[in-house]
Amino acid sequence: MKNVSDFFGCKVFDDRVMKANLSAKVYRSLRKTIDEGAKLDIGVANAVAAAMKDWAVDHGATHYTHWFQPLTGVTAEKHDSFISPSPDGGVIMEFSGKELIKGEPDASSFPSGGLRATFEARGYTAWDPTSYAFIKGNTLCIPTAFCSYGGEALDKKTPLLRSMEALNKQAIRILHLFGNDDVKCVRTSVGPEQEYFLITKEMYEQRRDLRFTGRTLFGAKPPKGQEMDDHYFGVIKPRVAAYMEELNEELWKLGILAKTEHNEVAPAQHELAPIYTTTNIATDHNQLTMEIMQKVAAKHGLVCLLHEKPFAGVNGSGKHNNWSLTTDGGVNLLSPGETPYENAQFLLFLCAVIKAVDDYQDLLRLSVATAGNDHRLGANEAPPAVISIFLGEELNAVLEAIETGTPYAGTEKTQMKLGVDVLPKFNRDTTDRNRTSPFAFTGNKFEFRMLGSSNSIACANIMLNSAVAESLKIYADRLEKAENFEDVLHEMIRKTIKDHKHVIFNGNGYDDTWIQEAVEKRGLLNYRTTPDCMPHLLDEKNVRMLTSHKVFSEAELKSRCEIMLENYCKTVLIEANTMTDMAKTEIAPAVSAYILELANTAAAKKAVDESISCGYETRLMKKLAILEEQIAVKTGELEEAVMKLQDTEDVEAESYMIRDAVLGKMGELRAVCDEAETMTAKKYWPFPTYGDLLFGVK
Ligand code: ADP
Ligand code: MG
Repeated sequence: MKNVSDFFGCKVFDDRVMKANLSAKVYRSLRKTIDEGAKLDIGVANAVAAAMKDWAVDHGATHYTHWFQPLTGVTAEKHDSFISPSPDGGVIMEFSGKELIKGEPDASSFPSGGLRATFEARGYTAWDPTSYAFIKGNTLCIPTAFCSYGGEALDKKTPLLRSMEALNKQAIRILHLFGNDDVKCVRTSVGPEQEYFLITKEMYEQRRDLRFTGRTLFGAKPPKGQEMDDHYFGVIKPRVAAYMEELNEELWKLGILAKTEHNEVAPAQHELAPIYTTTNIATDHNQLTMEIMQKVAAKHGLVCLLHEKPFAGVNGSGKHNNWSLTTDGGVNLLSPGETPYENAQFLLFLCAVIKAVDDYQDLLRLSVATAGNDHRLGANEAPPAVISIFLGEELNAVLEAIETGTPYAGTEKTQMKLGVDVLPKFNRDTTDRNRTSPFAFTGNKFEFRMLGSSNSIACANIMLNSAVAESLKIYADRLEKAENFEDVLHEMIRKTIKDHKHVIFNGNGYDDTWIQEAVEKRGLLNYRTTPDCMPHLLDEKNVRMLTSHKVFSEAELKSRCEIMLENYCKTVLIEANTMTDMAKTEIAPAVSAYILELANTAAAKKAVDESISCGYETRLMKKLAILEEQIAVKTGELEEAVMKLQDTEDVEAESYMIRDAVLGKMGELRAVCDEAETMTAKKYWPFPTYGDLLFGVK
């Protein structure tokens, strides 16, 4: 039996390693940089770099890389070896403070949305000392931010760090108003629950749709799907268990707190949840987790699908972003307190989140928008594309009591004068278990459930942090000027509840009547697709808020909007092209071949005896012949819809054409192909079916 504590974090240059390998002075100075953002002088950087290199070489590393997260959605790395020639013809291993702090990768192949003029292809990477360096394979990876030479962010980490800083600043203002003068820093923490599918590599290789797009573009419904609910939390199959065991080990070595694993609702679907940590580290860890999941799968002859909707008609995969706010003293600001003052503070932070989610529904929605996630959010699957907040009955009753000035009718009747009266104790266990809400309060944290399984969690947290910072700023501005703090506080909370209660919904978010009520009665936004929501990134109110907190510049926002729409268009285009390709070169020929077999069978029967009925063959041939024709027609129509895109210059216009024309044609082509699949002999079908894929891992 392996003892996890013996190897946990063994590939990480973490605090333990720093303490052991740096002089006390250098360690202290680095700690100051990590904890307080103090500037690092080059002497210290040199000492840290040398220690890092020695440690990495001892652990088998030969290379180093600045590891960053460009807007492609995956991580990037450019490896340099440590070697440097020595006069005697050999080499020495070298790594300087300068190389640690700053790198200059050629940025020209990363998306910049027009931010980086072509004559200046270089960008630079800058070390993020708050996220520990680690070893992957033979390479020391240094987490970095990635910017253009003009200083504009070309990555996800930079705005994430900025949003954390914005929130920190405003939260501290509020805490100081409540007399918590000793709080120096407020950080957000995130625990992302990650869903994924596992299928066999052998079957994956036979499907071009999976290889090129990460999802199946064809596939008739299998006789058995998820209707029996027998997979959720079910016994884990040996092959999957072996995979999970190795995955955990690899993650633990990287200091990633992989904690929970279980089967999910759909067959072949699983989930992994780590213990929560500071948001930027959680983000790095989640990126690494997704990468390691795929690597370990390959070693087990499996493929890990991170696509949001790999199989039509089967639950998609998401990522739950469990989010909370904590002070440097370890106080969770979303945890109801013991004293009236703590309660008032808790309610103010709670209201800040409610207001933020309502005011910036559009930003939260678009932060998770991708072509893949549209299949979950825009379709009949929980959570819906409409953002609402689940608070649970008890907390809801408390808010109602405050709003109406009536006694809270909980276990005991309690008046709710903030800062004076004690908040009734509510039972944490009764809060959640509404699995359909996109944004649920779960006792001492909020769970944002709209993220897609392949999304970087950075985007959602950038918007969440910024929007909450904005609420807190508005509160702090008023409270700092207040003559009677308690009165203003009470009134502000009351008003927030009144103005924003339309975003609170404790019922079933999966229900069609809810969507209707949300949109028609409550005026909530319902952006079903990426092209519907993405352009709102540039709405004046959003630009004003995000630039005022210095999370993005206007130019950065424009570039991001363009890149996200471009990603959307490219993704769907690749899917459309893969579909026409598969339809023409695999599906139509298969149907055709089977028709021929049926014709031969019929002819053979007739040869034996003219009176033998060939009704079965004839009827089936007729049906298949019609479908075959349909496949050809629908393929042509899809090709035509794709051709039309060539005339558009503007990416926004292109995204609308894709939404309105291309996706519909893809659906039509799929429908006829899937129908043909149900009538074609299995041995003719050119790739594994849904049944094979979903139940293939033993
Ligand atoms: P579930 O019932 O949804 O599985 P859990 O309570 O087990 O919820 O936690 C799910 C995730 O939430 C885990 O990643 C966990 O570490 C994280 N989490 C728990 N408490 C907090 C918190 N205070 N802040 C952020 N994340 C948290
Ligand atoms: Mg959850």
